[in-house]
Amino acid sequence: MLELHEVAKHYPGGVTALAGVTVRVDEGELVGIVGPSGSGKSTMLNLAGTLDRPSSGTVRVAGHDVAGLADRELSALRATRIGFVFQQFHLAPAMNALDNVADGLLYTGTPRRHRRRRAAEALEHVGLGHRIRHRPHELSGGERQRVAIARAVVGGPGLLLADEPTGNLDTASGAAVVGLLRQLHADGATVVVITHDRELAAALPRQIAMRDGRVHTDSAVPR
Ligand code: ADP
Repeated sequence: MLELHEVAKHYPGGVTALAGVTVRVDEGELVGIVGPSGSGKSTMLNLAGTLDRPSSGTVRVAGHDVAGLADRELSALRATRIGFVFQQFHLAPAMNALDNVADGLLYTGTPRRHRRRRAAEALEHVGLGHRIRHRPHELSGGERQRVAIARAVVGGPGLLLADEPTGNLDTASGAAVVGLLRQLHADGATVVVITHDRELAAALPRQIAMRDGRVHTDSAVPR
């Protein structure tokens, strides 16, 4: 599903965010990424999600070498195969939950009517069928994150990438969000989640620990 080979990412000013990362995530895995702030977790997730291109090395998503795709093809790959969830939810404040989720289908060529219907189903699926007309400010943090997850998965992306999805939530809401990620994984999605929460990470089937832009340990790879 996801393959990074010797991936490096440098930023202007001599910053090395990733210093050669080789990781493979198979279809159907549930993986936690841990490590100190600045260790390259978000950079790795953004590269895996094709939001950014590596300075060197190869990134393959669902069999496609990202380097061989034009920007337009990358957008199509993202729209159909990859769902993103971020710590800050990134919902449009003026739109209700239904339209926020329907937006997740904007670049898939789904007609508007069908977008709304599928959005309603996705919200139902995350337990928010009774909140579809609410705008983000009328929802709790946990509910907002569930809307964001519904938007991420409404297109049936197969790969779900989550960057600190519980970082802004209280313990109970965070647990609900983690439960939801587990449910999506059980339904067949491949899930990669960055987390600061050691307990959360320890409960996942596989953990990758980053340090200084490298994979420090990977529970799937014997040392
Ligand atoms: P983490 O997610 O583990 O906190 P990041 O991947 O965000 O780590 O960052 C890794 C390193 O790359 C940090 O030193 C960070 O300051 C740097 N970095 C990340 N994004 C950029 C950017 N757009 N420009 C310059 N430096 C960046």
